[in-house]
Amino acid sequence: MEILIRRQLPKHLKPRPSDGAALGFGDIYTDHMFKMDYFDGAWRNPRIEPYGPLMLEPSAMVLHYSQTIFEGLKCYRHPDGRLALFRPRDNFRRFSTSAERMAIPPFDEALLLRALKELLKIDGSWTPAHPEASLYIRPTVIATEPHLGVRPAKEYLLFIILGPVGPYYPEGFAPVRIYVEPFYTRAAPGGLGAVKAGASYAGSLLATELASRKGYTQLLWLDAISHRFVEEVGSMNMCFVIDGTIVTAPLTGTILPGITRSSVLTVAKDLGIKAEERAITVEELLETQKNGRLSECFGSGTACVISPVGELCYKSEVFRIGNGGIGEITQKLYDELVGVQYGARPDSRGWVEYVA
Ligand SMILES: *Cc1c(COP(=O)(O)O)cnc(C)c1O
Repeated sequence: MEILIRRQLPKHLKPRPSDGAALGFGDIYTDHMFKMDYFDGAWRNPRIEPYGPLMLEPSAMVLHYSQTIFEGLKCYRHPDGRLALFRPRDNFRRFSTSAERMAIPPFDEALLLRALKELLKIDGSWTPAHPEASLYIRPTVIATEPHLGVRPAKEYLLFIILGPVGPYYPEGFAPVRIYVEPFYTRAAPGGLGAVKAGASYAGSLLATELASRKGYTQLLWLDAISHRFVEEVGSMNMCFVIDGTIVTAPLTGTILPGITRSSVLTVAKDLGIKAEERAITVEELLETQKNGRLSECFGSGTACVISPVGELCYKSEVFRIGNGGIGEITQKLYDELVGVQYGARPDSRGWVEYVA
């Protein structure tokens, strides 16, 4: 399908932010966006247009029943000035999986990757050169059909927007404090845990807000049945280093299959660090902390890449991880992943895809 391109008038182009760590996350968007409609049983009219507000009927189904999915990936500026994507095909694959779970009609992943590259040819110059900054890419689908009966919609809008971002956490690559949530849960077996659905995030806001009032940046979710098994954090998968082995929860359907998580497991193997995907209870975790076997803890996700955890709080007890600083394995994984993403290290695994 041909992608139509309608460019913004030069006089309406936005001022560009100056490079740097002050960019924040998710407030600035570029001049153009990709859009594609679904109606009469097919995806139609793939096009690039000036970025701007959407027109929706108040009865648009997404506003009532949350039939919506999204993805998150980044475009990085390499030292030679080229723009690089990191494992973008995996993101579009997962976008399709999310669509299927949310009863959204399937789309052509290859078309979306091509559309993203076209969009980056126009707006890729927004990609900051700062070492911790990048251009965040947010593909989204929303159910636009004006209808209030509960069923999958018959009309959708798929769009991709771009925005320059700085480090995800204002603290940067520094240890965060995490609150282990004893009551609220994120995902139940058979639910939405394994897909990127806005609805899961809506359900997580209250607990996260309550924890933030106690001074914790993020929540560690436990399983929805026994409230004992460690699952993941906000928008990150979790890894623990116990006796020198990385332990992370298995992908049993309640955990988001992170591309960073999968990259961490591959890099660990390449570096000769042992890694296990296995269920671990919060009791076991805290036991290993008490007897000095838990040396490191970190989250992994596109936004932060690797986020070291310095402290866990569970039922008002506070557990310091290692020396509260950045662990050795955490640092090694961060250096390799960020090195490949930003082009400072060779990409021996075929993860980097240049924007032609
Ligand atoms: C997106 C996301 C992650 C991280 O996935 P990446 O592919 O590594 O960015 C982890 N958990 C949740 C709930 C997410 O939505």
